[in-house]
Amino acid sequence: MAPKASPRRKDAPRSARARKDAAAGAEHLIYFFGAGRADGNAKMRDLLGGKGANLAEMVRLGLPVPAGFTIATPLCGYYYEHRHTFPPALKPALEAALARVEKIMGATFGSPTNPLLVSVRSGARASMPGMMDTVLNLGLTDVTVKGLIAQTRNERFAYDCYRRFVQMYGDVVLGLKPESKDDQDPFELILEEVKQARGITQDRDLSPSDLRRLVSLFKDVIFRRTGKPFPEDPRAQLWGAIGAVFRSWNNPRAIAYRRLNQIPDEWGTAVNVQAMVFGNLGDDSATGVAFTRNPSTGEDKFYGEYLVNAQGEDVVAGIRTPVSIEHLAREMPVSYRELLKIQKTLEKHYRDMQDVEFTIQRGKLWMLQCRSGKRTGRAAVRIAVDMVREGLIKRDEALLRVEAAHLDQFLRPVFHGKDKDRALEAGRRLAVGLPAGPGASSGRVVFNAEDAEAWAARGEQVILTRIETSPEDIRGMSVAAGVLTQRGGMTSHAALVARQMGKVCIVGCGALQIDYKARAATVDGRTLKEGDWISLDGTTGEVLEGKIETQASEVVQVLIEKNIRPQASREFQLYDRIMRWADETRRLRIRANADLPAQAEQAVAFGAEGIGLCRTEHMFFEASRITPMREMILAETPEGRKRALAKLLPMQRADFKGIFRTMGSRPVTIRLLDPPLHEFLPTKDEELANVARLLGVSVERAREMSHRLHESNPMLGHRGCRLGITYPEIYEMQARAILEAASELRKERISVTPEIMIPLVGHVRELRFVKRVIERVAADVRKETGARVSFLVGTMIELPRAAVTAGEIAEDAEFFSFGTNDLTQTVFGLSRDDATKFLPLYLEEKILDVDPFVAIDQAGVGALIRWAVEAGRSTRKGIKVGICGEHGGEPSSVDFCHRIGLDYVSCSPFRVPIARLAAAHAVLRQRREGRA
Ligand code: PEP
Ligand code: MG
Repeated sequence: MAPKASPRRKDAPRSARARKDAAAGAEHLIYFFGAGRADGNAKMRDLLGGKGANLAEMVRLGLPVPAGFTIATPLCGYYYEHRHTFPPALKPALEAALARVEKIMGATFGSPTNPLLVSVRSGARASMPGMMDTVLNLGLTDVTVKGLIAQTRNERFAYDCYRRFVQMYGDVVLGLKPESKDDQDPFELILEEVKQARGITQDRDLSPSDLRRLVSLFKDVIFRRTGKPFPEDPRAQLWGAIGAVFRSWNNPRAIAYRRLNQIPDEWGTAVNVQAMVFGNLGDDSATGVAFTRNPSTGEDKFYGEYLVNAQGEDVVAGIRTPVSIEHLAREMPVSYRELLKIQKTLEKHYRDMQDVEFTIQRGKLWMLQCRSGKRTGRAAVRIAVDMVREGLIKRDEALLRVEAAHLDQFLRPVFHGKDKDRALEAGRRLAVGLPAGPGASSGRVVFNAEDAEAWAARGEQVILTRIETSPEDIRGMSVAAGVLTQRGGMTSHAALVARQMGKVCIVGCGALQIDYKARAATVDGRTLKEGDWISLDGTTGEVLEGKIETQASEVVQVLIEKNIRPQASREFQLYDRIMRWADETRRLRIRANADLPAQAEQAVAFGAEGIGLCRTEHMFFEASRITPMREMILAETPEGRKRALAKLLPMQRADFKGIFRTMGSRPVTIRLLDPPLHEFLPTKDEELANVARLLGVSVERAREMSHRLHESNPMLGHRGCRLGITYPEIYEMQARAILEAASELRKERISVTPEIMIPLVGHVRELRFVKRVIERVAADVRKETGARVSFLVGTMIELPRAAVTAGEIAEDAEFFSFGTNDLTQTVFGLSRDDATKFLPLYLEEKILDVDPFVAIDQAGVGALIRWAVEAGRSTRKGIKVGICGEHGGEPSSVDFCHRIGLDYVSCSPFRVPIARLAAAHAVLRQRREGRA
């Protein structure tokens, strides 16, 4: 099969730099490293990719790294823009670099007696674990394999490398890898046949002549499928592999990963060509991966796994379950001591937890990679806090290292109360695997990623259960409630990716025997079928039969449920430390959107400094209130409406008192009724009959009245302040409830200054009209109660006209709050309720980079906000300005709000901690930019 057709050109990485460099020649697109000298360094990750930059840095640090060179990322853009070709100047540059590698390694590429073998690996600016392609053992041919035998005196090893190489090359470079999961890899089929014919089950029982035969059978299949012989020229192999790595930048799993992690398509990958070292040369050889600290808990303890007599991919792919690094101290003490020293050096140098790959070849240790290690949220916070204490980093740095997603993990659920204990007592523990991603989850078993996606789309909670995961599974993993694998260690693909996604994950659960064909797994004599419920404890590694309810995290139990004392929870203390640092750093105030006293309480517990939006309509949906509300809506005269409103008044007043009491002196913004009235209308016959009875009309008549309220475009219809203008008695009742509640609280010595907010104002005169109504009510309440309550009247800015005329509106508005949900809807002319029908395609086609209902569209919606803030402040100096749309808890939007000088952001209570952290990050980033 020929290599795949050119990928869509719009995905081609095409930086201006790529064009410039390619025009100038390619010499400086190759960066050499080896024997203490390196052209690159760790700061050059944009150009060399993370892997290349860190290899160069490790060489500069004097660490034992096999020599090699990096082909820089701009060349990836060139490759795509020039129909999969390379600039002519690249060839001599590559030959020169290869010659340097040969000299250092004391071997020659293509030599029949002493051949140099190389690995060809991808390496982008941001780590994309396992998403792109790699070719190992490159340079082997029927001629050079003889040299490898002579050098290693190990025929079995040499042919094992050779057959692995031909298979990898066939799969990756020549495109024989099956496209769908239903097709089998042709090489695997041949391998199975040979093993069956020989009556063996394990690869390791293959003899040298079996392996030689496999090489020849593999080459035959390549010829049959592609019509071309397997390349016997090592240089042709090398160019083929370099092209394949560039092409793998645009394979579907890499594209999916970039989408999930917001990595720009334009970046491209670098290619690292490096001398091979072998961990599979016998029992004095090994390969492994390690973390300088525990990536699950953050504990300061060297942590890792290795396999004796194995190649690196065996550890990462989870094909064999590796052993803990502590054993290495006994098995290979010299290498272990050296590794221990190196990991300390690396951590000190990078001032961060590192993830390293190493190989021991016949007793000699080689470092193959280092990078900042992926970690759970708990580990991220613990490492950051510990490193400040150890003097490795400053507080600001520590704060920047804790991401919003890390913090989120402190808030995620665990198993409910003693439900797990009961499940254990009932013998429902099926197995124990390695705890790769902490947290608790329950879901129905599915055995492949496609099913996970399909089931999740139907609203099912699923646990993706695999023998091992591969990068193709990434989308299935992202929608699953948890991931469970039969094989693999803490550093397997499943573990790394799940940790990064913050997923509950258990790996290496060897007791599980999965049969994909039967869509079933057996464990301990029991059978799990597709669709059966299981529960995962990702903190202990236990897999349990059946569904177990989950409950709040420890932090939530301390803060909200108050059933754990703060001092008793290490988890809470870590969280609290980071939160305190964030609060000391941020400028933005953080409020919450809360409609009920209980939510207000939660908000305060999460650190909210006020309420930025109390949507009063939510108070009307309760069973006891909906009927008088309907009565009010359907009433045909002001008197009828007033009668119904009189029933609602005490309820609203009680709500507001509850909220004010909870919030104490903190500011509270209450928005008057906003949604189109038909949202409250009865839909069922008995509900309609109920309202008809109250109104003293027939059911038919009530139905007719209800139909009259129907609107074609209700979100742009009779809603917001338009309701308050057409039916002033509604806003009168609400203003009265607010002011009476505040007056009553004054008697309890709680002094509140309510902020009364008018929704959907487009013209200043709308605001003036409603403000007059409120002021009239205020004068009445003052007269009746004798209490002087101060209050503010302000407005939502959620229509483009309001933003454009904000200067004029500020003459009457005492505060602004940006309703970015409606503002986004009206600026884009995009219904917020229907956008999901086509927005995913817009994102896929890159018409939009992000969903504008998730993150503020800074160029469009953001420009209007910026304008409105300036205009508002020029009319009314010091006018208080905030945001209360959903964007208020989204980190990039919080950053934007900080930069344009808003006073506060308001978001749902559970996002308050994230907003606090994001607001601190905004300050620190701005400071850094100022310094840069
Ligand atoms: C908004 O439009 O952003 C807003 C906060 O109001 P709602 O979501 O209630 O329309
Ligand atoms: Mg709105």
